[in-house]
Amino acid sequence: MDTRMLFAVLKNSEMQAAHATLQRCLEVLTWSFGALATGMHPATDELGEAFGPGHEPERAAKAGTPLACGLDGLNLLGAWCEMRGDWEFLRDALHLANHYGPGAQICHLCGASRDPGLTYYGDFSNAAAHRATLVGPHCRGERAWKSHAPISPLCRLPGFSVWRCMFDFMHTMDLGLLQRCIPAALQGLLGLPPGKSRKAHEAPFWPGGRKEQRIKLANADYVAWAKRTKVPASSRIKRITGSWVHGRFPCISMEHAKAAGVRAMLPWVAEKAEARAESSPAAALRARVLTGLAKMDACYRGQGRFLSLSSEEEAKGHCLSALAALAELAGHFPDGPWRLQPKAHALVHIACDAVGANPRVLHCYQDEDFVGCTKELYRACHGRTAPRRVVQRYMLGTALQLVAREELLAGRRAPRAAALRGGPLARVGGSAAASSAAAPAAAAPAGAKRGPGRPPKLLAKRPKGRPRKPAA
Ligand SMILES: [Zn+2]
Repeated sequence: MDTRMLFAVLKNSEMQAAHATLQRCLEVLTWSFGALATGMHPATDELGEAFGPGHEPERAAKAGTPLACGLDGLNLLGAWCEMRGDWEFLRDALHLANHYGPGAQICHLCGASRDPGLTYYGDFSNAAAHRATLVGPHCRGERAWKSHAPISPLCRLPGFSVWRCMFDFMHTMDLGLLQRCIPAALQGLLGLPPGKSRKAHEAPFWPGGRKEQRIKLANADYVAWAKRTKVPASSRIKRITGSWVHGRFPCISMEHAKAAGVRAMLPWVAEKAEARAESSPAAALRARVLTGLAKMDACYRGQGRFLSLSSEEEAKGHCLSALAALAELAGHFPDGPWRLQPKAHALVHIACDAVGANPRVLHCYQDEDFVGCTKELYRACHGRTAPRRVVQRYMLGTALQLVAREELLAGRRAPRAAALRGGPLARVGGSAAASSAAAPAAAAPAGAKRGPGRPPKLLAKRPKGRPRKPAA
């Protein structure tokens, strides 16, 4: 069952200027988290106005009573522990002044600067000067707030620390560095002229007089490699296209390859770059970039939520080595195809400052899927009422799942083979493995055709015409 809770759905185009809509929502969220931290129903609203007979009487009646109790009768509390999202969301939600956009200072966690000087972010050595400017562990991000903007409501969250507002590995690596490094490497391997030059710098890896022929061979090579290394079909890219390797700074768009596809093809490109590493100094640097990033990713794969000290150190070494080579390539070829971006600096924080947490476990893959599902739900609703309807439908879906689970626990519903994993079965006295093996069809009570699993689809046809006015 999904452990996410949908809080609000906002359409970007309908948000007010200066993110006033987002800030209003975050105020309510902060208020809600405040109540969760005390474990009691609040006595005031998010603006500090006390509930009473004239203002939300139902809430006034509940004020000061426990929010929820555990099985042992004790109050349950909740605590904010981390915030995730892409850099743009962190910027907007936390009112960051120092970010990837224009401006010298690029980071809310340290004093790294875009200007080539002492704290230049392109210094990826262990002794880089910007590493000595990290903010303290209890910092609420004061240094990075915009001086003219109001303080973000999120900074009032109980236990808030700017260190827990993390750069996301998926957005930084798969949808950041790899989206540019992989096509830059492929451009050279396909024997195409880099950047603004008209002549190719190296012979193509795949033979063929025309570019299309070489791309076709590269695709066949990738497919054979993916089959050999058992890359799941869902994680494979559809195909390499000419648009991938076109232009001064080639980039793979999200329409051509999803994050998982880009990530899964990294070892293949690294293998090809490594095979060519001896041909020139630039090819050696290229191999160092791709192999370093692939090895860094390999250190995180298959590990649990926390990394061993050796894996963490190893990943950090590969990361810094790869980024140093990238900075060198970007310096040698200012006209393309290699480019150093602030996301490279974000990757340094992920590798060096995660304090043992595995970035591959904390990434936003599943959250992005969740957003995708919510978006589908939004599309199926009428535009004017969609923000409210989506939350209502989500609550309905969650309620149906809870009811189905309750019925399963009470034995009123036969478990379905697909829904037999995990805790509920232990509580009804069966083991998951045993129950999965035994077909439950015969034991199903009369009338119960389906067990609990997915809730019924809540997508409905978008109604025509104007939405009805709510009853007064
Ligand atoms: Zn920084």
